Amino acid sequence: MRFEDSRRNLREGFLEKLRNSIKITGNTQIVGLFGDPVKHTLSPSMHNAAFRHLGIDYAYLPFHVREQDLGAALKGIADMGLKGVNLTIPHKVNALKYVKSLCGEADVIGAINTVAVRNKKLFGYNTDGKGFISSLKDDCCFDPKKKNVLILGAGGAARAIAVQLAFYGAEKITIANRVLDFHLARRLAGDIRRKPGVKVKCVLLDEETLIKNARTVQLLVNATSVGLHPGDRLPLTSRFFDNAQSLGMVYDLIYNPPRTKLLRLAGSYGLKTSNGLGMLLYQGALAFEIWTGKKAPIHIMRKALTDAIKNRG
Ligand code: NDP
Repeated sequence: MRFEDSRRNLREGFLEKLRNSIKITGNTQIVGLFGDPVKHTLSPSMHNAAFRHLGIDYAYLPFHVREQDLGAALKGIADMGLKGVNLTIPHKVNALKYVKSLCGEADVIGAINTVAVRNKKLFGYNTDGKGFISSLKDDCCFDPKKKNVLILGAGGAARAIAVQLAFYGAEKITIANRVLDFHLARRLAGDIRRKPGVKVKCVLLDEETLIKNARTVQLLVNATSVGLHPGDRLPLTSRFFDNAQSLGMVYDLIYNPPRTKLLRLAGSYGLKTSNGLGMLLYQGALAFEIWTGKKAPIHIMRKALTDAIKNRG
């Protein structure tokens, strides 16, 4: 490359960065993320891109908040006039005791991922489950209404999506969890039964049991952390898919790696598949709308997320 070309590229790169940077003014409204750790988060890229795109005076910042400091930190956002925060590990459950009221299905889910501040009072929301359903409907063209769903896992994310699926109108929800924490699945099933009309059961997460339940399953969701690492062993093999004649969609909440072993296996059966990037996107878009009262620019937020993942390598 010629010297002039490389100088021009550098100058253009710098101007692009400047155009993309957030301007902080005396009126800037602050939102952010409380978590421990927070270094890995992609949310600032997604939200700040949306603020820039709409030209609104907001900024999204990560805050490293330890478990024991959550109460003080949440009190602080009300006192300092922040618009709200997202919550990630380990705060989603602990935060319940610090908010004035829970909105939507957050009390049934028993966890919140979004806090909004109004008149110095804190309101708690859970946008994970709704984000999952939007991703299914809008990105995958799969409507879970009246569907038979099998969810692997009974942790925080499984709770959010199982409760939201029940409220949305799924017909049957089966929760599969390994022996170690089987009571988690039972408790979740019990909580979902509060919503009349949906059939719920919990089963052991082992392949023979999953195969017995495979025939009528229409949507399979992996809400365990199995698949995050290349050496992870899937709880099911091709035998499950051989028996799952009604299966139309396989969704893995994991988004990095983007094609987990489960998605590759499901893809080899010609099934529609999705990773969890859409859920991350739509839960963020809902939080954005709660804080700003404006429609989230989904395409801008999606591009910012995919760019951030690419740049991370
Ligand atoms: P939790 O720690 O609350 O739950 C993890 C679940 O995975 C539990 O049910 C756990 O079972 C199960 N599990 C872990 N290891 C194994 C194993 N070896 N075999 C079988 N089951 C196992 O985590 P979350 O619910 O918060 O997150 C679950 C996954 O979803 C993670 O991969 C996370 O990255 C992803 N996620 C994605 C989001 C998105 O926006 N796309 C949002 C939130 C989460 P047990 O109870 O027996 O330990």
